Amino acid sequence: MDTEYIPYGKQAIAADDIRAVATVLESDWITTGPKVKEFEEAVARYCNATYGIAVSSGTAALDMAIQALGLAPGSEIITTPFTFIATINSILFNNCIPVLADIDSETYNINPASVRKKITPKTKALLYVNYAGQPCNIEELQKIAQEHRLFLIEDSAQALGAEYNDQKIGSFADMTVLSFHPVKHITTGEGGMVLTNNKEFDHTLRLLRNHGINKEVQERFGPQAEWSYDVLHLARNYRLTDFQSALGLSQLAKLDGFIQQRETIAWRYTAALQGHPHLRVPIVREKVRHAWHLYPILIGNYERDLFFKKMRENGIGVNVHHIPAYEFTYHKRFGWKAEDYPITHRTFKSIISLPIYPSLSTKQQEFIIQTVKRILHDA
Ligand SMILES: *Cc1c(COP(=O)(O)O)cnc(C)c1O
Repeated sequence: MDTEYIPYGKQAIAADDIRAVATVLESDWITTGPKVKEFEEAVARYCNATYGIAVSSGTAALDMAIQALGLAPGSEIITTPFTFIATINSILFNNCIPVLADIDSETYNINPASVRKKITPKTKALLYVNYAGQPCNIEELQKIAQEHRLFLIEDSAQALGAEYNDQKIGSFADMTVLSFHPVKHITTGEGGMVLTNNKEFDHTLRLLRNHGINKEVQERFGPQAEWSYDVLHLARNYRLTDFQSALGLSQLAKLDGFIQQRETIAWRYTAALQGHPHLRVPIVREKVRHAWHLYPILIGNYERDLFFKKMRENGIGVNVHHIPAYEFTYHKRFGWKAEDYPITHRTFKSIISLPIYPSLSTKQQEFIIQTVKRILHDA
């Protein structure tokens, strides 16, 4: 038998998750019913946020969050090039201009000093990404937002359960975006959520999730319902189903355990690999609890692409997070140049993610560590 392929990330679904989904499928409401509300309230409570609006993906959540700001076309939003492309596209969908700031060389998060240099009179918002599960320098970003009257949006698709100053992510920005894709901390298959403490944003987001219609779906069905409704915004169908929400609730109950398992793996990797002459392990800042969506290392002397190839030959699903936006064919039209983002580009050229997910066994972790060492020994 071939050795089993180890992906970089994967979901942890158990029998209780399957039962939770099946129960909803057998009920009257399979979408936009009681489980969605329950899931929204549970995630908001977990993250110390007042409101949670569940949607069909993290990408939908980002799109809606930007739309809810109601910015004039041509408004500038500062963000990072070192993210999954959905972050940047959410700005473009809303006819705003993504302005890219460079990253910090140790955390790979957006660098507040670089953000300051990008501010113009057109800047209206700052969209920061908690890369790999490590919160940004949020205090500094909040200060910048306050000084320049900018909206703050946090892309925490990779950071559910992370902490900053002993507080869970979810209420640091005007809106916080989560993803429940299978490689993320908990999954609903596809799914996402916007968290906010602002009642008006909550109201607008609920409209934007449902065609801009001024009545919740449950108000439009059933014997007492009126036929009339109004449409207040140009909006899409971004709804999450009840059976997905049931999966999310079942997963959420296990989230703390999942994060501990990820943390244990990260610490084992770090203990085994730190100080190695040809690589650098992740640096975790003070005041931060890292949620370890990714475990990215930098490869020094040894060429990253050769390392990638050899790891894959050993059945280990390493991956590159992320290809910066300026590398993509579609995004070339915006005229971004690699040399304008030197730290991002240098990081992109040498970064590689090792597998990390709750069910990765001790034996698999040992195999990964030994394989990394063996390949780099030839360097
Ligand atoms: C996963 C991810 C998204 C998109 O989430 P989906 O649920 O896959 O749409 C957005 N931003 C970042 C940083 C992500 O990692």
